[in-house]
Amino acid sequence: MNDEFDVVVVGSGPAGSSVAEHAALGGARVLVLERKGAIGEPVACGEFLPVLDEIKATFPDAEDLEPVFDIPSSLVSREIDLIRIMSPRSRGFDIPFLGYTTDRNRFDQHLASKAVKAGAFIRTSSMVTSVEGTEVRTRDEVYRAKVVVGADGPNSKVARGLGLPRNEDMYPAVTSQAIGPFEPIMEMYFGGLAPGAYAWVLPKRDGANVGVGVAPKFSDGRVGDYFQEFLRMRKLEVTGRPVGKYVPSNGPVSRTFTSSGLLVGDAAGHVMAVNGGGIPIAMICGRIAGRTIADHLVKGTPLSTYEESWKRQVYKPLRTAVHTKMLASLFFGGTGRLEFSMRVLGPRRMGNILRCRPSFP
Ligand SMILES: Cc1cc2nc3c(=O)[nH]c(=O)nc-3n(C[C@H](O)[C@H](O)[C@H](O)COP(=O)(O)OP(=O)(O)OC[C@H]3O[C@@H](n4cnc5c(N)ncnc54)[C@H](O)[C@@H]3O)c2cc1C
Repeated sequence: MNDEFDVVVVGSGPAGSSVAEHAALGGARVLVLERKGAIGEPVACGEFLPVLDEIKATFPDAEDLEPVFDIPSSLVSREIDLIRIMSPRSRGFDIPFLGYTTDRNRFDQHLASKAVKAGAFIRTSSMVTSVEGTEVRTRDEVYRAKVVVGADGPNSKVARGLGLPRNEDMYPAVTSQAIGPFEPIMEMYFGGLAPGAYAWVLPKRDGANVGVGVAPKFSDGRVGDYFQEFLRMRKLEVTGRPVGKYVPSNGPVSRTFTSSGLLVGDAAGHVMAVNGGGIPIAMICGRIAGRTIADHLVKGTPLSTYEESWKRQVYKPLRTAVHTKMLASLFFGGTGRLEFSMRVLGPRRMGNILRCRPSFP
């Protein structure tokens, strides 16, 4: 392998692997640099994905989603058909919603293997230390590329290197695996257990993924302490130490391209502000980015078409989610207010909110 590539992608999460796959399919010579030694590990994710019809319902303008979400059944850990939202005073609201949990490490490894099959190279244990223009440095190597992609997650170093905006207002969240039998229901707990966000139970084939996210603005402790309190309250026994990460909560950053670089996935704020979900959008926008890069290299199409395209396909629901989150933050301050607003909304409107639609017409 020499050190000159058409594309250097930083990060091998769902965004990076999707970009790499589609740029490589378009004929580009692609290198992915991943700081971890093993792709997808350790798992810092709820591991939940909506089924294709739910993704289409949330992102009705996204194009040709079938091939993006053609996920092998071996990656489905447990099917889920209901979301139960628990109010601060333990009232449950049941929302029919089809999805499934996966094993996020195997899921990310699957997407990475598709990128490799398409012709991309992946280097693990390669932490990018700086990006200047089209020069990408790790501790030991310097790579040059025609296009650099920041798919390096919420605290994107590439965004800084490219002079692009970074995520603000991120929420810490932690997760672990719990032991025991669980019904095929996703539980979401709101109120003082997870101020400004929620705690969850997501059933898997064996046990469940359990976790907590909090909004710094509303919490006065560490997310790990809220997590321990949630385990006590819900009587959960976990198998390992909690693993944490930040979740962008403010929608997409204001600019996601330069003349030679792009941001995708969490690095671009491609996350649903109402529920913290980002895997489907990372994959949708990753494909758009990969195809745009291939067109840029072959036909000279400007990289700005990437932003035009993802905005056309997914921006509206992401913006609605940010507005809903801002509105909800008026109610997160007090248990009584939150309880009251949840009763007023009821399950149907809460279902709309989860699907990034306006809660009221
Ligand atoms: C606790 C938690 C639970 C979540 N649950 C869900 C869920 O159930 N469903 C859902 O849809 N979303 C969930 N999300 C959000 C989801 O995990 C992200 O939106 C998704 O992973 C975004 O994919 P990505 O490829 O953009 O970033 P990531 O998956 O974060 O991948 C970025 C990659 O870049 C690598 N990297 C970072 N910096 C460097 C560097 N300097 N050099 C080299 N490599 C680097 C990282 O190691 C990582 O592998 C959750 C998030 C958290 C924190």
